[in-house]
Amino acid sequence: MKQKKSKEFEKFEETVLQCKKCQLSTERTNVVPGEGSENAEIMFIGEGPGKNEDLQGRPFVGAAGKFLDEMLNSVNLKREDIYIANIVKCRPPNNRDPLPGEASACWPWLEKQIELIQPFIIVLLGRHSSARFLPSVVISKDHGQPFRKKFGKNKIIFYPCYHPAAALYNGGLRETLLKDFQKIPKIIDIAKKDKEAEKIKEIKQLTVEDSGEKQKKLF
Ligand code: URA
Ligand code: SF4
Repeated sequence: MKQKKSKEFEKFEETVLQCKKCQLSTERTNVVPGEGSENAEIMFIGEGPGKNEDLQGRPFVGAAGKFLDEMLNSVNLKREDIYIANIVKCRPPNNRDPLPGEASACWPWLEKQIELIQPFIIVLLGRHSSARFLPSVVISKDHGQPFRKKFGKNKIIFYPCYHPAAALYNGGLRETLLKDFQKIPKIIDIAKKDKEAEKIKEIKQLTVEDSGEKQKKLF
């Protein structure tokens, strides 16, 4: 279902489109801020735009994107219900790894996106994205395993997976990735239960505070 973006979200995306905070701004064709629903419960974070993404200004539209779409389809997720972003929003020349300074310069944009979207789950696509959020994770060992972690003021379930492009180079990873994606619906259920539990806690706290208020007023 398509939803209209809030003014704040639109303004944020417009600001990112103008960004010149690092040297990647000099060689890009387009900034790729990210795409999808501002109300997404689940976010996917890749590494950075490749050639096709740079040309179109949209994330995951090349060969890796095609495989990502296939995996999303296999668990009935549509692009308009999720949000897809990257660690860096401009293409590193010749698809080299982003430099630490570039990733740090771009980090506040991603933080802001997460703060605005407030996803329950973040699927970390690949080693770089995983390392950024879960520094102790080893992708070959920890892929397909959800981690609960506080991020900003919310607890989020982070789910590290191999990068879809890795499956294009190493066919053996295809099945592994598809299998890890099969667990996503279950993780969404768990995340929703977490949220319900948090809400109940919040309501309880409110009630306690409310009754405290009344007592104060009474005396
Ligand atoms: N690879 C990524 O990490 N991100 C994209 O947007 C496309 C390919
Ligand atoms: Fe700005 Fe990020 Fe692009 Fe660097 S990569 S210019 S920080 S949007």
